[in-house]
This record gives sequence, C-alpha cells and structure tokens, in this order.
Amino acid sequence: MNDFILVINSGSSSLKFAILSQQGKQVILEGIAERLGSESASIDFEYNQTKETVSLNLGSHQDVLTSIKSWLDQHPHITEKLIGIGHRVVHGGESFSQSVLIDDKAMNAIEACANLAPLHNPANIKGITACANLFANLPQVAVFDTAFHQSLKQEQYLYPIPMHFYRDHTLRKYGFHGTSYRYISQTLSQVDEQSLHQGVIVAHLGNGASVCAIQDGKSVDTSMGLTPLDGLMMGTRSGSIDPMILSFVAKAEGKSLDDCLNILNKESGLLGISELSNDCRTLEEAMKAGDERAKLALDMFCTRTAKSIAALATSLTTFDHLVFTGGIGENSVYVRQQVCQALNLFGIEIDKQTNIDLPRKQIHKISKAQNNKTVWVIPTNEELMIALDTIHLIQA
Ligand code: AMP
Repeated sequence: MNDFILVINSGSSSLKFAILSQQGKQVILEGIAERLGSESASIDFEYNQTKETVSLNLGSHQDVLTSIKSWLDQHPHITEKLIGIGHRVVHGGESFSQSVLIDDKAMNAIEACANLAPLHNPANIKGITACANLFANLPQVAVFDTAFHQSLKQEQYLYPIPMHFYRDHTLRKYGFHGTSYRYISQTLSQVDEQSLHQGVIVAHLGNGASVCAIQDGKSVDTSMGLTPLDGLMMGTRSGSIDPMILSFVAKAEGKSLDDCLNILNKESGLLGISELSNDCRTLEEAMKAGDERAKLALDMFCTRTAKSIAALATSLTTFDHLVFTGGIGENSVYVRQQVCQALNLFGIEIDKQTNIDLPRKQIHKISKAQNNKTVWVIPTNEELMIALDTIHLIQA
C-alpha cells in the first residue's frame, strides 16, 4: 500500500526524520542530522537495523534534505511509495488550531508566527522550503505543537499584564507538546473509552517538560506559556520563576537580557541545581552513589511537577486520570513515585511494585487496583500523529 510518509522535525542545529508506513505504525527509516551549521555536521540513517553515518558539507537544512533525497534515490522501492511529507512546526500562534496542508497562505502565516518562536519556527521554515525544492511533487503538511491548546479559555491563556500586549502583540499562553497530548488523549481513550468524557492530566516529562489538563478530550490548561521556557523545571530550563530574578541577575553580574535568558534556557533546571547534568538517568545514578545535589535537583523537579499538576486540576470538572509520558515520565521509577506521593491527598496512589516492574514502550496502569483515580504510563508517539495528520489531509 502506498502510504509512506516522510516526517521531518527540523530544529536549529539538528533535524530528525523518519519514514513511516502502515498508517504510521511501522518505521521504515529513521535518522538524525546533528551539529548543523558546523564543519562536523553529519547525518545518521537507520534502515533495516543498520546504521550509516554520512558527513555533510556545511550542514545547512538544504544539505540535510539533499542527503535524504540522495538516500531515497538509492532506494526507489521506498521513494515510489512516498505520498507526502509531515513537518513538526513549533509555533502556530492563534492562526492554527489544527494541522494544515502547506500552501502559500499557510507558509505566510507560519512565517508570521516566527517572532513568537525565534529559535524554532525559522528552522521549521527552512525544512519546509528545502522539501518544497527537492520533493516538488509531494504535498506537505504542518503539524503544530501549539494547536491542541487553542481550546484554552481566555481566563486561562491571558497573562495578567496590560491588555494591549495581547491586542497589539498576541502575547498570551500558547502551550506546547500539543501533538504528544493529542496522541496520549486518543490512546488513553482506546484503553479506557470513558476517559474521553472525563478529566485527564498528562505529564509530558522529558528534557523539555510540561503538564496539560484535558477535559472531554480538549486541552483546558497547560504549564508552558508564550514560550517553552514557562512552567515546570526542565533539563536546562528554569521553568516559571519570579521575573524580578532577571533584573537581579543582570545587575549583580552585569549581564544583558539575552545573557540572562540564556541562563534560564540553557544553564538552569536539573543542570543548574545539580551542577552535574541535565540528564535524569545520569542524576539518578549519581543520587544512588550518594550525590546530594543530584537528589536535590530530582526532588525539586518532582515537587514542582506535582505542584503544577495540583494547580491544573482546578481547571477540570473531575480529576480521573494521571498519565506519565516523555523520556522521564516513561522511564523514571523515582520521578513517578515522588510525583504521585506528593499528590496523595488527591487520592493518587500507585502500586510501588507495578511502577518498578514496568516493561518499556508499553501502555501500563500503575495505580492501585481499587483506586478510582487511574495512573498510567503511556509512551508518546508524535511522529505517528504527524504521519496520520498528513495522510488524513492529503486524502481529504
Ligand atoms: P526526552 O526529551 O523525552 O527524549 O527525554 C529525555 C530524558 O529522559 C533524559 O533526561 C533522560 O535521562 C530521561 N530518561 C531516558 N531513559 C531513562 C531511564 N531509564 N531512567 C530515567 N530517565 C530516563
């Protein structure tokens, strides 16, 4: 069946890609190009359980996609089944509440959102432009991280700052990880049909981390804001802090606003507190070896996640399900245990042994059998969602 979709996740210094078939369920090819823009830029192709690394000239987005095109030219049995390209686009602003087929109008609107995500959207646009040049016959679809949260009410998405900042510059909460939340909501409804008419909180905990409250299948609140810096403590991002800290840091250390933002984006979070690593696994190993600071970083991460979940619960009619996903949510026994312990007064209780014994990459219920608040671990799959949206829009 001809339903192969090329999925592109184009970042500023890396580009992840995959070819999915069978309605997104089977991965044919996957790979990543890294260190883009530097002389050591390279691209990895993983196909038939074999990995091949190719170095890239200057590593522009166009170079990467040219390299993918050459690989495809050498594998015509795959190329002939490709029917479209799906792009992850970080920011859709208020223009996109769902995925779209990319035409000139959509492209202009994506470009207009670039000021809201200056680190991300320009890279997404480069990926789309390069694909339009190289794969002129294939339709392209944009799938937005923000789209799922366009259902938030004004009282949730406005910041309590003068209204004209929203009117004049559309400064508001947008939220991210929307493709993951949409996937989790749909997947949960397949294992528990009632959840589509209930209140669900999903904790997408990875290097970037956020939580989302979903009522009747729709996002009603989320922790990330205008940008992905807001909300939870993350790998290198501070999440929400007192904004006056910026002014104090700038004055105390003679730093510019950009320097301060760089600290909050790249030097804070788990890394900033542990002074060791942004990686949860590394910190758990260090904690087991007695590193107090690694433990403090992890405990702060858990406490702040639990606090944010508790706050989000106020936007639900009932709080019926808690779902963990993302690299940390799916794999860290410690983080799940600590977060759930802090949420005990909400009636959240997990079975400690089930939490430990969890097979990887599978959907699992970890709450105690008699509990009416269900806690799940559900591996996310944003690529599948992008492939499905692409197929759907092409066929429509
Ligand atoms: P993501 O950004 O979703 O890919 O998640 C990356 C994070 O997941 C990193 O902090 C990893 O250390 C963490 N992670 C992956 N596997 C494990 C594991 N087995 N135990 C704890 N953390 C993990």
